[in-house]
Amino acid sequence: MQRSMIGELAAMVGETVRVAGWVQTKRDHGKLTFIDLRDRSGVVQAVGYQKMGELSVEAVVELEAVVKARPEKLVNPEQVLGMIELDVQSYQVLGEAGELPIPIDSDGYEINEEVRIQYRYLDLRRPRLQRMLKMRSDFTHALRLALVEQSFVEVETPLLTKSTKEGARDFVVPSRQHPSKFYALPQSPQQYKQLLMTAGVERYFQMARCIRDEDLRADRGFEFTQLDLEMSFVTQQEVMQTVEGLVKQAVKAVGGTLQQDPFPVFTYQEAMEKYGADKFDLRSDSDKEQGVLALAWVERFPFFKPVDKEDVAEVRDGKSGWTFTHNPFSMPLPEHLEWHLAGEHIGEIVTQQYDLVCNGYEVGGGSIRAHRPEILRATFKIMGYSDEQIEEGIGHMLKAFTVGTPPHGGIALGMDRLVMLLLGETSLREVTPFPMTSSGRTAIMDAPSSLSAEQLAELSLVVKG
Ligand code: ASP
Repeated sequence: MQRSMIGELAAMVGETVRVAGWVQTKRDHGKLTFIDLRDRSGVVQAVGYQKMGELSVEAVVELEAVVKARPEKLVNPEQVLGMIELDVQSYQVLGEAGELPIPIDSDGYEINEEVRIQYRYLDLRRPRLQRMLKMRSDFTHALRLALVEQSFVEVETPLLTKSTKEGARDFVVPSRQHPSKFYALPQSPQQYKQLLMTAGVERYFQMARCIRDEDLRADRGFEFTQLDLEMSFVTQQEVMQTVEGLVKQAVKAVGGTLQQDPFPVFTYQEAMEKYGADKFDLRSDSDKEQGVLALAWVERFPFFKPVDKEDVAEVRDGKSGWTFTHNPFSMPLPEHLEWHLAGEHIGEIVTQQYDLVCNGYEVGGGSIRAHRPEILRATFKIMGYSDEQIEEGIGHMLKAFTVGTPPHGGIALGMDRLVMLLLGETSLREVTPFPMTSSGRTAIMDAPSSLSAEQLAELSLVVKG
């Protein structure tokens, strides 16, 4: 007999069915045992006469049962499937469940987070987290659909690569075949997506995993997912319009509500004067109650800022005492190009950078890029790089820009943050399938961990201490 899904049973009264799932609850009434059986489509009550007494909660079982309409006075209007129950004929345990290390019959907020992460495979059974997984999947799907409709091409870029500057430290990977050389994991696909414009792709996107060694916070992990996209022959307005259209379409597709349409646009200066920050929350109290998303654009950012001496990555990038505010591959405003090329008025140069803000968070950032070699070279000169260091760091980009690279620009949207806001959560860990703990240990498998002496030797690594 084929397996039926619990969600289909209401239309099968009188039939004998085979169902399978988890024992959500169990109540023993002497000869009668009641269980609530759960599969991915719903929950139904199953009644066993002189059977099922030994089942444990969260065990996986398969039942053969007759679908019965419940007597009218026992109909449970609170349950979708409250009008029916299963009269169990026979059953089989497919997967035993011992004592559970964490309870899963609540929303889980009250349980120690480290323990939840350690048993994430159980934690994820909560309806709240099942909804989260579904929302992530639906939202990603809606964006993909909208992108493909608009002729974007999805391209994967390498994970083992060379450092690309996004203002954080790199995670590096040693290599057995190249002793004393290291790959870097991508902080973003920035350079590859630009090279795809050189390659003639014109409209690229990728659901890209990015890895940055940054201090951990509630709204930031080492790994995150961004919708990364890049377009050729576009102005800043065209990129912003395209992205706004995609976001609106996808948010609506998953049932989200937007506050303002079109999204308001602020200059960096206006935002700082009005809100004291370049990310801000435009929601009223009633917007907050209703879970509304208040999106806005911020543009006209300063290109450079003085280096924060406490920030190791900034000190490394900004050798002259100046570093980029957002993205070193950006294009200055046309009216500031001369200053840029001459390295003058550095603090006053404004970049064609735009950020997308939502409910107080930065959820996206992008720019029109410097696609001519002399402009990109000037950016690194301003940051104090010697010709040799420029060649070593971005020589490959400069070279690509000499074989016909169109003007281009793009953006990256933080998928984790957007999903967090769509679900009204306040921690990224709540919307990450397998999050790290706040101290940076991985879920369940407890990395980072030591390597054996043989592995270290093979990688030509010597560990101090
Ligand atoms: N690469 C940038 C980032 O990851 C986004 C962009 O400018 O497209 O923040």
